[in-house]
Amino acid sequence: MPETTMKPSLIRALASRLKRGEIRSDAASLESHAQDKWFARHLPDAVALPRSRESVIQILQFAHQHRIPLTPRGAGHGYVGGCVPVHGGIALSLEKMNRILEISADDFVAVVEPGVKTAAFQEKAEALGLFYPPDPASRADCSLGGNVATNAGGPRCLKYGVTRDYVLGLEVVLADGTLVQLGGRTHKNKTGFDLHRLFVGSEGLLGVVTKATLKLLPRPPYRAALSVGVDSTTRAASILASVFKSGFLPSALEIADRFTLEAAMRRTGSKRFQGCQSHLIIELDGQETAVRSDLRDLTRQIKAFNPTFIQRGMGYDGCEAIWQIRREFSYSLRDTGLTKLNEDIVVPRGRLISLFEFAEKLQRKHRIPVACFGHAGDGNIHVNVMIDRSSNEQERRGEAMLDALFKQIIKWQGSITGEHGIGLAKMPWFDQAVSPASRQLHKTIKDALDPLGILNPGKFLS
Ligand SMILES: Cc1cc2nc3c(=O)[nH]c(=O)nc-3n(C[C@H](O)[C@H](O)[C@H](O)COP(=O)(O)OP(=O)(O)OC[C@H]3O[C@@H](n4cnc5c(N)ncnc54)[C@H](O)[C@@H]3O)c2cc1C
Repeated sequence: MPETTMKPSLIRALASRLKRGEIRSDAASLESHAQDKWFARHLPDAVALPRSRESVIQILQFAHQHRIPLTPRGAGHGYVGGCVPVHGGIALSLEKMNRILEISADDFVAVVEPGVKTAAFQEKAEALGLFYPPDPASRADCSLGGNVATNAGGPRCLKYGVTRDYVLGLEVVLADGTLVQLGGRTHKNKTGFDLHRLFVGSEGLLGVVTKATLKLLPRPPYRAALSVGVDSTTRAASILASVFKSGFLPSALEIADRFTLEAAMRRTGSKRFQGCQSHLIIELDGQETAVRSDLRDLTRQIKAFNPTFIQRGMGYDGCEAIWQIRREFSYSLRDTGLTKLNEDIVVPRGRLISLFEFAEKLQRKHRIPVACFGHAGDGNIHVNVMIDRSSNEQERRGEAMLDALFKQIIKWQGSITGEHGIGLAKMPWFDQAVSPASRQLHKTIKDALDPLGILNPGKFLS
């Protein structure tokens, strides 16, 4: 593993190969590329801000030649420390490569540079009657390149799948500066291996994505949602099971526990969730007549479970009114003054109740609150261990809780991360989560593509 501090002469030599402003080493630039939205931080020696793939090629050739660690970075809105340059070297930010190169309504395809912000892209596509479903809660701030590198998901992924399902082709610069075009622009393609998908979710360890060709769908013309409060998590899980059993595939099915609901009521002043132990959001989309009719059936079905309340949101504005408070959940937990150790674990769908019971048991045993909310339909729940970081004792117990949580998730054949990736945060559990043979295969692929180990060193394959 290369460990360097780049001497100023090396930084100048790299700058001389690039356009003005594409390399920076002033203190403010280094500071602003030292971390993401997790806790870890480490200063790079230089920040590269290329505006073209030619510059990316130059930077990688240079890094390879001089064995300089290089950490790709999108918008720095990751939750696991993935873009933290833990070995220093170059932080390679793709934020200036932010053009939407094409949106084709005929081919249902878009071609984008990696620095394009997800929400901005979605808005442009929707204005043309097209739809790009992956909807991470961070979409206003995160980049499509970062989404590809983490295989980002969100509520709509229940019906529509995650980022990987929308990547038709990628342009990637490999560790030694070699440019490869992978996949294509057709919605079906079985020419050779699915190599472009190898880079989806690869967290900057295998190559730098410089262009992505994305699949688009027709935009569903209508949406409607139900907000449902219930008096127990068990009842929420029964509703969830009955929704699927009767053949509905909602575009989103979200759950939240009491701790989260109380925090949200404190933040917003809403009394909405009083008396509720759990809350569901169920959204449907499609043609208006079909959605209205399905929503009527669904409402009837859910009423049989005696919910504390049901609220309907019709059309775009009605749905947004329901989602508004859901979007406050993260901030509401932050308002508690505690630090949330946010783990995006996934359990097989049938284990949802067991997960909530396990979280309950953990908080009783360690006397530290746990807030759970998230994408119930996928079994992908954000389990937030809420610690007081000013207390070493709480930090220690928080770590013990995470360890117990991940061990249980692995035992249930769940996954230690559904959306955020391994990064630095999940590194301690990666080896337990995959088999020795799978770990070896990961290493073989990494060694083949990055034999000097310069790409994002210090992460889960180090
Ligand atoms: C408030 C909040 C809510 C969130 N909600 C969700 C959610 O609902 N769903 C979800 O999936 N995630 C969520 N996240 C996590 C995060 O937003 C996603 O992981 C997102 O995809 C990160 O994108 P980014 O552009 O910020 O990437 P960064 O954080 O900059 O980088 C993430 C990883 O990708 C690599 N990388 C970035 N760009 C490239 C590139 N062009 N080529 C190669 N590697 C690259 C980096 O090296 C790093 O390993 C949330 C984060 C926050 C702060």
